[in-house]
Amino acid sequence: MDSLIERAAQDLLKSNHAIALTGAGMSTESGIPDFRGPDGVWTKNPEAERRAYETYHNFLRNPKGYWEDVLGGRSVLGDLMNAQPNQGHKALVELDELGILKAVLTQNIDALHVKAGNRRVLEYHGSVLKLRCPSCGTRYERGEYDLQGLKQRDELPPRCRKCNSPIKGDVVHFNEPIPQDIAQESMEEAWKCDLMLICGTSAVVYPFAQLPRIARQRRFDEVRSPVTTTTIIEVNAEPTPLTAEGISDYLIQGRTAEILPRIVEAVKKLSR
Ligand code: NAD
Ligand code: ZN
Repeated sequence: MDSLIERAAQDLLKSNHAIALTGAGMSTESGIPDFRGPDGVWTKNPEAERRAYETYHNFLRNPKGYWEDVLGGRSVLGDLMNAQPNQGHKALVELDELGILKAVLTQNIDALHVKAGNRRVLEYHGSVLKLRCPSCGTRYERGEYDLQGLKQRDELPPRCRKCNSPIKGDVVHFNEPIPQDIAQESMEEAWKCDLMLICGTSAVVYPFAQLPRIARQRRFDEVRSPVTTTTIIEVNAEPTPLTAEGISDYLIQGRTAEILPRIVEAVKKLSR
């Protein structure tokens, strides 16, 4: 284990464009359950997963009903608004401040990388702190709309101030396309990085799960690629399909909130 942590630190120090890809395993230690781990929301409640497949369709068919559900219900992930970053998030901020980490691409919707202070965060599945217009792509801070007021005055759904279409939460639901700006920027990051640090994701949700595979494939596509080698490191409590398929070069098995700070310590020690 110690030797893998040192190897990760050396790889990070050698890199020119390191990025992190993160998933729900980053946030379990901030009190937010994951979906597919042993205590995951879907693992324990498959019915909630089935319902989640209908949310986007519900919005398209009946935006008012969608908003009544959103404002009347409780998130399956608990109180995301008040969750706070943990030691793992803070370690990624330190790598950013050291000039090593250039971007964080996250599937998490909890905004904890933004709260922690990373400078470039691409929220692939959106953020609970924002609203978005699916028609023109404009995003709004949640506080810009008085959602409870609209509900009380029977004026739901909220409407886009640019194009007047009904807006939804920024979070991307099953069967909903990834917003084009984020999809494009994430693809560019995966294409140009020479190190990918993948933290706490089971890497089974597509198209996000395609990003490590793009970085790996690029190795065999040197003519078109700006870099020729990419080191892919996983930090996860258990092996994932990326480990099994040999997409990652190595797995550091353990908790993100413990392993990531140890990697940062090793980076600092080696650069003294
Ligand atoms: P997932 O639930 O499919 O997988 C989580 C992975 O993290 C598992 O491989 C598990 O072994 C690992 N893990 C759990 N706790 C860990 C820890 N402390 N340290 C290291 N590894 C740990 O999650 P996913 O791959 O991110 O995909 C789930 C989808 O659901 C995402 O698309 C995301 O949008 C959404 N989601 C978001 C949140 C959040 O915002 N915090 C939480 C749950 C689900
Ligand atoms: Zn709009």
